[in-house]
Amino acid sequence: MKLNVAFFSSKKYDISSFQQHLTQPHWADEYKVSFHAQFFEPRLTLQTSSMAAGFDAVCVFVNDELAEPVLLALYENGVRYIVLRCAGFNNLDFIAAQQIGLRVARVPAYSPQAVAEHTVAMILALNRKLHKAYNRVKEDNFSLQGLLGFNLHGRTAGIIGTGRIGLATARILAGFGMRVLAYDPFPPQQNPDFPLEIVDLEKLYQVSDVISLHCPLMQQTHHMIDNNALAQMKPGVMLVNTSRGGLINTEAVIEHLKIGTIGNLALDVYEQESELFFEDLSGDIIQDDVFQRLLTFPNVLITGHQGFFTEDALTQIAQTTLQNLVCLALDKHCENEIVDS
Ligand code: NAD
Repeated sequence: MKLNVAFFSSKKYDISSFQQHLTQPHWADEYKVSFHAQFFEPRLTLQTSSMAAGFDAVCVFVNDELAEPVLLALYENGVRYIVLRCAGFNNLDFIAAQQIGLRVARVPAYSPQAVAEHTVAMILALNRKLHKAYNRVKEDNFSLQGLLGFNLHGRTAGIIGTGRIGLATARILAGFGMRVLAYDPFPPQQNPDFPLEIVDLEKLYQVSDVISLHCPLMQQTHHMIDNNALAQMKPGVMLVNTSRGGLINTEAVIEHLKIGTIGNLALDVYEQESELFFEDLSGDIIQDDVFQRLLTFPNVLITGHQGFFTEDALTQIAQTTLQNLVCLALDKHCENEIVDS
């Protein structure tokens, strides 16, 4: 069987990591499956969905659109399978996919450590102002004024969402000697191999010096960090979001940066990131005034959704995505199929 796959939002690094696995992966031999792949640079939207005509499957990423009209267009163009090369699937209208008859799989856990390590890198860089120090030293400016940080050791971290990434982040922070609190409506069944205190959200907001978000974006978590949540936080808190932009009401966060409730803000994700991230817009005029306002704060550090971006994670993503596709196409049990929202 030959599987024709259209890749959307393809970047050079996607092409090179997938190409290594597309040419006769040893595990595909036993299923007698081979792949024909075409890499398209544009995002999947209603307008670009016709590019998938004649393909069995589309392979998509975090900012591709999987709303009902797009799903219908894909189906009418002959597509039957959608493989997400990411963990989160908030961009998918799951009910519509089910009704239309499209089967969808994702990569739930390619490398939680990749995102956890990026989260901690952001905490350290922002706290010790490494981004500023790097530029200063390049200009022979060795002044320490404005670079004052705080010890993580002895401070309290609050982890929201104790899934794979949340726990991996908590483990690293516990290793620094932080007291680690966590909130999750479904906390871990077993005690982890480091001290972790499960608390309610109110307590987490009130006592944490660093709050890091690791829960999925759903209806219940959309804008969970709003004015009300921010008002409960310790003045000067460091807020970190490497999960999904929509967890935070950005305008409320800007107000609380202005009055100092938030002492430091680290973002790897942003609500309206689909218009910005993964592209070189350095010669363009950015139209998003909210994002531009965020960039003016000296205590805000933003990266463009790069938490997942390690060699190890890309290898795992490519392997699992193709294995998911083979399972779906051969109608075998696919443990990564999205079967319930
Ligand atoms: P996971 O499914 O292992 O864990 C998510 C946890 O969130 C679960 O334990 C769940 O019970 C919990 N949760 C659900 N609702 C909650 C709520 N209202 N409050 C608190 N916790 C809640 O997922 P994961 O692999 O740890 O990934 C977490 C998120 O990280 C994903 O949803 C994705 O959006 C994001 N992510 C970001 C990147 C990146 O590059 N920045 C990469 C991968 C994943």
